[in-house]
Amino acid sequence: MEIKIHDAPGRGKKQCPQCKLYIGVRNRVCVCGHEFIAAQKKSTSTAQAPEKQEPKPVFNRKDFFSTTISTPAGKCPANLADTDYETVEEWAEKIIRHGEAKNVVYAVSALKYWSRQFYDVFSEEYKLIAQHLNEIMTPTLEVGYEDDEDVTTEGEDDAD
Ligand SMILES: [Zn+2]
Repeated sequence: MEIKIHDAPGRGKKQCPQCKLYIGVRNRVCVCGHEFIAAQKKSTSTAQAPEKQEPKPVFNRKDFFSTTISTPAGKCPANLADTDYETVEEWAEKIIRHGEAKNVVYAVSALKYWSRQFYDVFSEEYKLIAQHLNEIMTPTLEVGYEDDEDVTTEGEDDAD
């Protein structure tokens, strides 16, 4: 079998450790007689597998606003008279405007906290109000949910 000898490295060539000549990678024996042992495939692929990136939340207003209140102190600045959506929305707006005047942002949990001054935490009314607040306040003030909601995002389904 004829062996082509090269004096420079390149694609499809390998260097003989014995005579330092470059020969085609397919040659198992060099012109000098050196025998190449079948190259073992290095399993570096697993170590270099790119890690799947954690899905980042779209809204992270915590960094955006200077002060976010999730547990307000004192008396609620607005009176919550009813549990229907519009009343709750009006009430929430009053509080949000009240906060803006003080350069403070109230989280959903803050509004829920205050609504409990009007309705018991275990009451059906409070459940309703909390639901309304979630709708009203999401996503612009999606900060400080007191309910430990499962927002884990599973990876996309790899349907093959
Ligand atoms: Zn050689």
